Amino acid sequence: CGIVGVLGSHEVAPLLVESLKRLEYRGYDSAGIATVNNGHLDRRRAVGKLVNLSDLLVHEPLAGKSGIGHTRWATHGAPTATNAHPHRSGPVAVVHNGIIENYRALRAELAEAGITPETQTDTETVALLTRMFMDRGMGAKEAAIATLGKLEGAFALLWLFDGEDDLMIAARKGSPLAIGHGDGEMFVGSDAIALAPMTDRITYLEEGDYAIITRAGAEIFDAAGRRANRGEQRIDLGQ
Ligand code: GLU
Repeated sequence: CGIVGVLGSHEVAPLLVESLKRLEYRGYDSAGIATVNNGHLDRRRAVGKLVNLSDLLVHEPLAGKSGIGHTRWATHGAPTATNAHPHRSGPVAVVHNGIIENYRALRAELAEAGITPETQTDTETVALLTRMFMDRGMGAKEAAIATLGKLEGAFALLWLFDGEDDLMIAARKGSPLAIGHGDGEMFVGSDAIALAPMTDRITYLEEGDYAIITRAGAEIFDAAGRRANRGEQRIDLGQ
C-alpha cells in the first residue's frame, strides 16, 4: 500500500518509519522495514499501527544507512507478521504495492524448481524468483530484471539486497513510484509526499519503467529496457 526507500547518509530506520507515517492516510494493516548494515540485510515487521513497528524497533533495533519500508493492505494472505513486507528470500528483500496476478502460476513454477513459499502472499513469489535467478548465477540487477519479465498485474516494487549497501531497484507497472534526489542520498516513495522532509526534487517513473538506484543517482529504463530520461521536477510538498 505504501512504499518508501532510502539510500542515506545517516541511520535510516527512524526515517523509514517517519516516511511511512506520511502515507498512513492510505490505511494499512501491518508494516515493516529492511535495512542493509555493512552489507548485512535484516528486517523487522509488525501487525497493526506503525507504533507497533516503532516499539519493536526499540527492543530490536535495525542499524544501517540503506533501507526499504512498507505499509501493507493485505490482498493475498491474512494480515499477519509473516505475511507483512518486506518479503525476504536469501539475499533478496522486496516491498510491493498492488497484485501479482499470475502468482499461482509462478508458485507452480517455483515448486517445480523445488522452492517452497513460507507465506500466503503474491509478493513472496517476487523475492523467491529473484533469489532463484541469483542462485543460478545472475547478479542482483540482472535477477530483478529477469523477475520483472515474469510478472503480470499491477504493481510497484522496490528491491534491496544483502551485500549491497548502495543499491535499490524500483519498478512501476500500474502503481505509482516517485524517486527523490538528495545530496548524495536517494529516496523512493509510492507518493512524493512520503519524501517531503527529505527532498522536493522528484522524478516520476512512467508506466513499465524500472530504475537502478545508487547514491550517485537513478538510471531509468523503459519497459523495452532502453535508457529513459524522465526529467526532474521541483514540487511543493507543503511541509
Ligand atoms: N498484494 C500484496 C499483499 O497482499 C501487497 C498489498 C499492498 O498493496 O499493500 O501482500
